Amino acid sequence: MLFNKKKTQNCVIIGSGPAGYSAAIYTARADMNPLLFTGFQPGGQLTTTTDVDNYLGFPEGINGIDFMKNCRMQAERFNTKIINESVNRVILSNKKGGIHRIFFDQKKCIESRGLIIATGSRPKFLGINKEKKFLGLGVSFCATCDGFFHKEKDVAVIGGGDSALEEASYLAKICRKVYLIVRKDYFKASKILQCRILKKKNINILFYSNVTEIIGGNFLEGIKIFNKKNKKNRTILISGLFIAIGHTPNTEIFKNELDLNEKGYIIVEKGKTITSKPGVFAAGDVQDPDYRQAITSAGTGCMAALDLEKYYLLQT
Ligand code: NDP
Repeated sequence: MLFNKKKTQNCVIIGSGPAGYSAAIYTARADMNPLLFTGFQPGGQLTTTTDVDNYLGFPEGINGIDFMKNCRMQAERFNTKIINESVNRVILSNKKGGIHRIFFDQKKCIESRGLIIATGSRPKFLGINKEKKFLGLGVSFCATCDGFFHKEKDVAVIGGGDSALEEASYLAKICRKVYLIVRKDYFKASKILQCRILKKKNINILFYSNVTEIIGGNFLEGIKIFNKKNKKNRTILISGLFIAIGHTPNTEIFKNELDLNEKGYIIVEKGKTITSKPGVFAAGDVQDPDYRQAITSAGTGCMAALDLEKYYLLQT
C-alpha cells in the first residue's frame, strides 16, 4: 500500500488558488485523499480580478470568480476534502516520513506526512483612500489580466521596479497613453527594461511623484498626483490604475519552519517544489517572485503533487 489510510493524513494542501486546486486534483487522482484549507480568501487573488482572458482553454475568457469556482468543483469531483479555514500555525518534522502538524481554528490540529503549501502572495497596496473600493473597477494589480479592458484608453502604472516597467511596456501596446509614476527620480528596474521603456513614445514618465487621491464614481476616473520637486498637485484622467510596487509572500507562519529567501519566499530546489523539510512542497506564488501567473501556478501545483507522490514511492 502506497499511502497511510489511518488518521494521519497523506496530503494536506494549504491554499485555494490555482496552485492549491491543481495540487488537489493531482493528489486526489493519485489516491492520496487530499485535504485542502481554503484560507481567508477562498479562490485566492483571481477572485479579485474581473475576467481571466489569458488562461489556456477559455477562448472567450472567464470571470475570475467563476474560474475559481470551477477549480473547486473539479477538485471536489475527485473527493478533495475542503476545509473553509485558515491555518494559523505549523510544526514541521525534520525527518523523512515524519509527521507535520497543522493548526487551525485556534486549537484544532491535523497531522499529515505530506504537505503542499500554496498560500500565494499579496500585492502591496499604496495605502490611500478608495484604492480597495475601486479594485476590479479600474484599479488592478495585473496588466496581463486587465490591460485589455483599457484598450485605446489612458492608464497609469505606479512603481519603478521591474514589475512596473514590464506592466507599462505591456500596456503601451494596448493603451493610448501610459503614465508611469515613480516616487524617486530614478528607476529601481534593470537597465534593459529601462531602455525598453524609454523607447516607447506613449509612455509618459513622472518622477518624484506620489498618488495622493483616487477619483471616481462607480468606476475609476482619475488620480491626483503630488510632485515632490516642484511641490505641485496635478490631476490625471485615466480609466485604469495599475499598482506594481511589489508583492509580499504569505509565509508568516512558515518563518521558523522552512528556509525562506531574503524577501520571504519559500526556497525550493531548482526545477522542483521540494522545500527544506522532507514531505513539504511549495507551489505557486509563495515560491515564485517572477512569473506569478495563474497558469504557472497551476503548473507548479501539479509539480508539487507529483513530487509528493515520488516522496512516498521512494519510501516503499
Ligand atoms: P520591487 O520591490 O523591485 O520594486 C518596487 C517598486 O515600487 C520600487 O520602484 C519602489 O520604489 C516602488 N514602491 C514601493 N512602495 C511604493 C509606494 N508606497 N509608492 C510608490 N512606489 C512604491 O518590486 P517588483 O514587483 O518590481 O519586483 C519584485 C522582484 O521580481 C524583483 O526582484 C524583480 O527583479 C523581479 N521581477 C523580475 C522581472 C523580470 O526579470 N522580467 C519582472 C518582474 C519582477 P523605491 O525604489 O523607492 O523603493
